[in-house]
Amino acid sequence: LPLEYQKALPLLKKIEEAGFEGYFVGGSVRDVLLGQPIHDVDIATSAFPAEIKQIFPRTIDIGIEHGTVLVLDGDESYEITTFRTESTYQDFRRPDQVAFVRSLEEDLQRRDFTINAFALKEDGAIVDLFGGLNDLDNQVLRAVGNPYERFHEDALRMMRGLRFVSQLGFTLEEKTKASIIENHALLAKISVERITVEFVKLLLGKNRRLGVEMLVETNCYHYCPGLAEHKAGLQRFAELPSMPLTNEIQAWTLLIDQLGLPSDAIRSFLKGWKCSNQLIRSVQQAFKGLQWRKTQAYTQMLLYELQVETIAIVESLLPYYGLENQAPHFIAAYDALPIKALTDLAVNGTILMETFNKKGGIWLKEALLACKTAVINQEVANEQAALLEFLQETQSHLVSL
Ligand code: ATP
Ligand code: MG
Repeated sequence: LPLEYQKALPLLKKIEEAGFEGYFVGGSVRDVLLGQPIHDVDIATSAFPAEIKQIFPRTIDIGIEHGTVLVLDGDESYEITTFRTESTYQDFRRPDQVAFVRSLEEDLQRRDFTINAFALKEDGAIVDLFGGLNDLDNQVLRAVGNPYERFHEDALRMMRGLRFVSQLGFTLEEKTKASIIENHALLAKISVERITVEFVKLLLGKNRRLGVEMLVETNCYHYCPGLAEHKAGLQRFAELPSMPLTNEIQAWTLLIDQLGLPSDAIRSFLKGWKCSNQLIRSVQQAFKGLQWRKTQAYTQMLLYELQVETIAIVESLLPYYGLENQAPHFIAAYDALPIKALTDLAVNGTILMETFNKKGGIWLKEALLACKTAVINQEVANEQAALLEFLQETQSHLVSL
């Protein structure tokens, strides 16, 4: 067992000592069997939330109506969720109401794919009720039970399937795939936020090409914000060199470029995906840098504007265009800039108003801009005396009374 499981093993023991069943479940069991690193250890139990809270002294109610209690153990915390069924599906979305049950089998039945429906016992034995081990071996993604029914219960499962294709490089089992093609339009019922989570994981998957091709082949892209008219762009994106993308800013920037969107369409495209304003700004900056860098080196001013994080992202994207990543070179150039922000400038508004004995106004903004530009372009030293002299000599129309 991996270290994360060994650490969590005492919790399973405690649950069993109290007379209940407890298992490791979900993505972590799949990842352990695949020999991949795991992120969260999820535990499923026959104990009801109130019973879990009696067993463990330190707990937080994080989703008690869904049966989930967070148990604190040393400096770790674990989500312990009561076995449940999700019987009351309305409107093709995940249910608001769940029923707690005492049977592991019923809990595993509600899960989406056979490789996500394992339970791992305290003694290391694997519960595999739906042939998941076989599917792991054959690298097949198969819905648990009848795919048509499962996608009707919760249409998001189709997007989850596509992102697992991208993350794992697995093939969709024939009926599962046919059912996604048939039911793709049910995605219209799913909130954008939930679709976005899966789509970003798909973009960042190691087998991005497969995932994006399946997104197109199953027609699910029709129900992704802003993508319906972009089949050809998505295919171009799928065909990019296969190096994996490591962060969301990279992924969106590259996608938007392959879709051929103009820079002034980025905001509304990403708003459609409910991206944060901060992410949108980062993508706009990276996109600007990328367009420039595809044909030439940065100017001093562009280095200043983009700042080091965006420069690194832009450089990391160049290999997708057959160009060289020159991050070390351009980060050194950024580091050598005389100023990194306006506050580094040796003059400020107060100094200029006092020196030239003028009240604030448009002249002041323009004078500061002239100083900033001259300093960044290394035409004037970033020193107060040098800058005041520069203004008097070259910008007298601004600073004279
Ligand atoms: P990741 O490694 O990205 O966390 P995961 O498989 O653990 O992948 P989670 O969203 O953390 O995905 O869900 C944990 C488990 O809950 C899944 O493995 C699956 O068994 C079940 N599950 C999650 N979402 C659904 C869903 N929409 N329908 C059915 N089962 C689901
Ligand atoms: Mg998980």
